[in-house]
Amino acid sequence: KNLSSVEVRQMFIDFFKEKGHGVEPSASLIPHEDPTLLWINSGVATLKKYFDGRVVPENPRIVNVQKSIRTNDIENVGFTARHHTFFEMLGNFSIGDYFKEEAIEWGWEFLTSDKWIGFDENKLSVTVHPQDDEAYNIWKDKIGLPEERIIRIEENFWDIGEGPSGPNTEIFYDRGESFGNNLEDPELYPGGENERYLEIWNLVFSQFNHNPDNTYTPLPKKNIDTGMGLERIVSVVQGTRTNFETDLFLPLIKHTEEISGRSYDENETTDAAFKVIADHIRTVAFSIGDGALPSNEGRGYVLRRLLRRAVRFAKQLGIDEPFLYKLVPAVAGIMEDFYPEVKNKESFIQTVIKSEEQRFHETLNEGLDILSSIMKREAEKGSQVFPGEDVFLLYDTYGFPKELTVEYVEAEGFTADEEGFRKEMENQRERARSARQKTDSMQIQNSVLGDIHTESKFVGYDLLETESVVT
Ligand code: ATP
Ligand code: MG
Ligand code: MG
Ligand code: MG
Repeated sequence: KNLSSVEVRQMFIDFFKEKGHGVEPSASLIPHEDPTLLWINSGVATLKKYFDGRVVPENPRIVNVQKSIRTNDIENVGFTARHHTFFEMLGNFSIGDYFKEEAIEWGWEFLTSDKWIGFDENKLSVTVHPQDDEAYNIWKDKIGLPEERIIRIEENFWDIGEGPSGPNTEIFYDRGESFGNNLEDPELYPGGENERYLEIWNLVFSQFNHNPDNTYTPLPKKNIDTGMGLERIVSVVQGTRTNFETDLFLPLIKHTEEISGRSYDENETTDAAFKVIADHIRTVAFSIGDGALPSNEGRGYVLRRLLRRAVRFAKQLGIDEPFLYKLVPAVAGIMEDFYPEVKNKESFIQTVIKSEEQRFHETLNEGLDILSSIMKREAEKGSQVFPGEDVFLLYDTYGFPKELTVEYVEAEGFTADEEGFRKEMENQRERARSARQKTDSMQIQNSVLGDIHTESKFVGYDLLETESVVT
């Protein structure tokens, strides 16, 4: 079956509508009244109000397709077949209604029935928690899955501290030996870190309360929370090697080929660049569409960092001037059936991206020269450590996010002194604080101005590092 991404997305909604679910629209990427989260990172993140009982849904069965951002996977992006910073999560949910049996049976039906996705059942295997005999037996007896394709692994337990928790079961698609040539690889099993067994769907059975004293008691009302990556299932449906050759990304890659004059599928280094660009432009366009703007703190800093990361990879394709903004209409075109917001704000999004690109380009080449001369200097001293104060210099004077510098120097076999960088940041904060005290003691009338000068930079790292991931 060759289905488009638009069809797969719609099919998921239709399937669960047939099973009595109400459709919840995709919410903004920017969390609403949830200070624990920088970005919406899963389908369940926007439905917390139902899961914690604050709001009782009209219909306890919910289906959604939720745009999500995860930065914890950023190092993988461009290098694995399956990771993105922006992706769509397909999910079905039960708020105290159906439980394991229906969740598993419907998941299986959706994936294998000819009426729906129609995967070959022999290609699917699952993982369950070692103590979850209930799920194990449903897979074995109700579904008829051979026991060697039901793998018990300890990690299959969903627990974020106090609150609801429980075991989960994950569904993997076997893409065949060519995706895992090294059959000796100890990680080559469903649930291991490999690209042969592609994780497509996570079904979470929230059945315990994790109590403050670290005991677990059964929940009176059990919930189901599932998440499947649209890009991953589409890559299996369309038979592509990675998510990036699907109809969700290919137009972006083609466009980048035109801009750069280079071809995709030439070598691994340039392919990674094409993929990073295609990935990051979606994240940047959608987050600006939802109201984020590049800045030096919190969400804005993530945005800036992604944009600059894309610009740095673009250099490997010989692109040396602002270009990302030119990809926005392609993003809008691919997504407009389901997400009109990018199309609606297209020119605004382009303007923001273009000016941010221009800003970075002004200092980029100079910063890169400095970066290589520092590496040269250290290498001559026999050191492979990039000093923290220079990471800071690049950040402060040339607008290189710390992570960007780290990636650059690591690619050249260096390590960056991140601890030293943190110290420099702390010194900078200290200087800002005492500058503020000074202005106070001088009784400067315009204290507002003083605040702007001292406060506008250097926050946000902590936020990034404590960013939590729920599903
Ligand atoms: P992986 O092990 O591949 O990193 P995960 O176990 O971290 O995935 P979950 O938290 O279980 O992912 O999320 C549910 C589903 O969402 C996954 O099974 C996958 O299909 C999709 N997904 C998760 N993270 C990403 C990502 N960074 N990019 C694309 N899809 C993702
Ligand atoms: Mg992950
Ligand atoms: Mg996983
Ligand atoms: Mg998972």
